Amino acid sequence: MNQTQTHPKVVVVGAGWAGLGATYHLAQQGYNVTLLEAGGYPGGLVAGWKTAQGRSVEAGIHGFWYPYRNIFALIKHLGLNPFTDWTCSCQYSPAGLEVESPIFQQKSRLPTPLGTFLYTRFKRLPLSDRLSALPLLYAVIDFDNSDAAWRRYDPVTARELFKQFGVSARLYKESFEPMLLVGLFAPGEQCSAAAALGMLYYFILAHQPDFDVVWCRGTVGEMIFRSWVEQIEQAGGRVLTQRRVTDVMIKTHAGEDAKPQINGVACGEEVFEADAVIFAVGVTGMQKIVSSSATLRQFPEFCNLMNLRAIDVLATRLWFDRKVPIPLPSNACFGFDATTGWTFFDLNALHDEWKDAPGSVIEADFYHANQLLPMDDKDIIAKVHRDLTTCVPQFRHAKVIDSSVVRLPKAVTHFSPGSYPFMLPGRTSLANGFMSGDWIVTRHGSWSQEKAYVTGLEAANRVIEQLGVGMPADIIGVEPDESHIEFARHANRTIRDWTSRWLPTPWLP
Ligand SMILES: Cc1cc2nc3c(=O)[nH]c(=O)nc-3n(C[C@H](O)[C@H](O)[C@H](O)COP(=O)(O)OP(=O)(O)OC[C@H]3O[C@@H](n4cnc5c(N)ncnc54)[C@H](O)[C@@H]3O)c2cc1C
Repeated sequence: MNQTQTHPKVVVVGAGWAGLGATYHLAQQGYNVTLLEAGGYPGGLVAGWKTAQGRSVEAGIHGFWYPYRNIFALIKHLGLNPFTDWTCSCQYSPAGLEVESPIFQQKSRLPTPLGTFLYTRFKRLPLSDRLSALPLLYAVIDFDNSDAAWRRYDPVTARELFKQFGVSARLYKESFEPMLLVGLFAPGEQCSAAAALGMLYYFILAHQPDFDVVWCRGTVGEMIFRSWVEQIEQAGGRVLTQRRVTDVMIKTHAGEDAKPQINGVACGEEVFEADAVIFAVGVTGMQKIVSSSATLRQFPEFCNLMNLRAIDVLATRLWFDRKVPIPLPSNACFGFDATTGWTFFDLNALHDEWKDAPGSVIEADFYHANQLLPMDDKDIIAKVHRDLTTCVPQFRHAKVIDSSVVRLPKAVTHFSPGSYPFMLPGRTSLANGFMSGDWIVTRHGSWSQEKAYVTGLEAANRVIEQLGVGMPADIIGVEPDESHIEFARHANRTIRDWTSRWLPTPWLP
């Protein structure tokens, strides 16, 4: 065996959860892996860094939900202990506290979705409005994350779906839309109904404890990625920052049916040889690569990526001159701006660094923050202070003594209606070019950081299948449907198959 056969060269592009996940597994399996990251440090959307004053900041705070089974397994394998205990959370509107969520796994377990329905404490929303969600259960059953289900529900907006199923205006405004704004980063009229159903099922409805969440006791960069990158390097992987990939080189191929193969990755003038390539960049990053790549522009699937969109996010951190008592550490807010949701976190309660700080340290992140990004930092901080005071009035007397504003234009995936046909699956027209990241089509069923990590492992497994060296990563599936949901889905599929066989279907999906 020559050197290339024993240690094939793999280039991974982008050092977020997806890229690091793929790199770590392949390095452990003996591949010669090089991870190229455009930014100054690894982490992607989850990166953390220090301000000039030495204070930790990050691109928004990140929660780890109960169903993140693969990430929790990785953390155990890395021997890390980064997380808080499970935390309760609140929801605020300009009228004050609206909802309190308990730690669901501490309550007697009920068949889903009864626990979510009964244990969530709504302060104002009448029972009749909450009951108007019942007919929507049909869509939850019907949407089983299959390709056919995505094609049925993706062209419809989430708002239209909730309207069709009779959800009351108040339940939509005070419960579903806030969940969409913090879960899919966009208001209901801009979200695909398929993405809304998939996200709500994964984070809230599939099993009673799914909404339980932990946070890192510092930035994710510091608590997880620093040590993870060290372990990647110990396993032989190379992580190179400040390397922006601009193009790939492809080999001419013999047979007409053979797919083209990538044999090099370019960062401007610098070229890295590759036996396989994994793209692990976000939607906007991939669009920029395609725009600069004479090679990728030849393939319609890559040109079609220009039909996808991404969303602006704003992450702020405020240091106050005094401690303000905050009922719960993590809080979601709605109704402050028409199309923007936001969350705020008590970092004195969550982060070790601020536990004994003399004043409150608050992270406030705004999703779908288009209209906020052009504002001056000082106006942004004044707005955050105002909004915080609306939720917790004692903030009125507290003074902001330091602050950080991180603008993230076109940063997170927009699962807009009609976007599904343009999202790429893990395999592409390039025989040895694989996709990963939180926007890739996968049947795993996870979302956000867990999905990014899982698709990174899936891409690593495709490389292993193709190049034949090493063992595939064990990917833990999502917890199976509860038996009554499984039964309902099976019955629904049978009826669907039967009717489509015997009845003409002239209607739009
Ligand atoms: C404010 C905010 C809050 C969030 N909250 C949560 C949460 O609570 N829980 C949760 O699970 N998820 C949350 N998310 C979503 C989560 O951050 C993402 O789902 C996840 O980090 C995506 O990881 P990724 O590896 O797919 O991509 P990314 O993290 O986007 O990584 C892609 C990397 O590719 C690099 N790159 C781009 N172009 C190039 C190029 N040409 N060459 C080389 N490198 C390139 C980028 O610099 C980046 O480092 C949040 C996101 C934001 C912004």
